[in-house]
Amino acid sequence: MKCYQSIFVGLLFLFAACGNPSTNSDSKNSDQTKVSGQDSKIEIVATTGMIGDLLRNIAGNKANVVSLMGPGVDPHLYKATQGDLQRLTDADIVFYHGLFLEGKMEEVLKKLGKRKPVFAVTNQLDKDKLIYIEHYGNGKKVPDPHIWFDTGLWLEVIPFVADKLMDQDPENAAYYKENARKHRAELLALHEEVKKQISTIPSGQRILITAHDAFGYFGKAYDIEVKGLQGVSTSSEFGLKDVSNLVQQIISNKVKAVFVESSVPRKPLEAVIEGCKAKGHEVAIGGELFSDALGSEGTAEGTYLGAIKHNLKAIVNSLK
Ligand SMILES: [Zn+2]
Repeated sequence: MKCYQSIFVGLLFLFAACGNPSTNSDSKNSDQTKVSGQDSKIEIVATTGMIGDLLRNIAGNKANVVSLMGPGVDPHLYKATQGDLQRLTDADIVFYHGLFLEGKMEEVLKKLGKRKPVFAVTNQLDKDKLIYIEHYGNGKKVPDPHIWFDTGLWLEVIPFVADKLMDQDPENAAYYKENARKHRAELLALHEEVKKQISTIPSGQRILITAHDAFGYFGKAYDIEVKGLQGVSTSSEFGLKDVSNLVQQIISNKVKAVFVESSVPRKPLEAVIEGCKAKGHEVAIGGELFSDALGSEGTAEGTYLGAIKHNLKAIVNSLK
């Protein structure tokens, strides 16, 4: 593992050295930004679809934004492709999530950050607002990275991201500031909408069961109990015991529906459904939720707002 990682890092720097000789330690040199993009737009690379969407909203027509992780891609397990390395090398500015969401890429991104502006969007979040969970049962607590499920918390990354764009391209600072203000207002409205809709589910039925523990922030912000078959990272193991525990909880809480996730294989959750059936309890699949990735580009669910609205509708329709 370590060996692969060092080869990977080595390759990355090889690309960096060959591909972009103008890269230097002055990360705030906006002239450099202006000439490096073919159409003089800022070239932005984001890791997840959620971050890419946020950047598209704030950077508007002043940037080309590429998200490395497309629909159905699991960020916990994602490894950069050769093409990704080239995109990272060519980018003027790179945004990633941090909090170890990009488990297999974070070290590389941090190293790349010594050569160009690379930022974890969660960098300046109030640490007291994070949920801490036990990591791999070793007693060590780490932050749960899935903050985008609490839209009220996700919108707190906007000022940080806008600041970094303004540093990169001070000429258009007012434009970024205004876009950031508008997007914040949109997300705030969505946050209120989710709160309102979830509260219409009778409290005894307000249990969200998913493939992995991505929805902790959703549960905390919107007052709904959440349970995942797998842990907070999809790289964590789960066994028959976890399946039978979940089956037991579904039966004792008379849960009507469980939810598959677009970025996690559905087979393990199907085992839970079968387990319930064997004990005489019918539980339906309440729909597919966008958890760690957005939907296809060009569809409503390909945006953060659309994906959250899709999830909300599926959850409310199935549990109410
Ligand atoms: Zn996840």
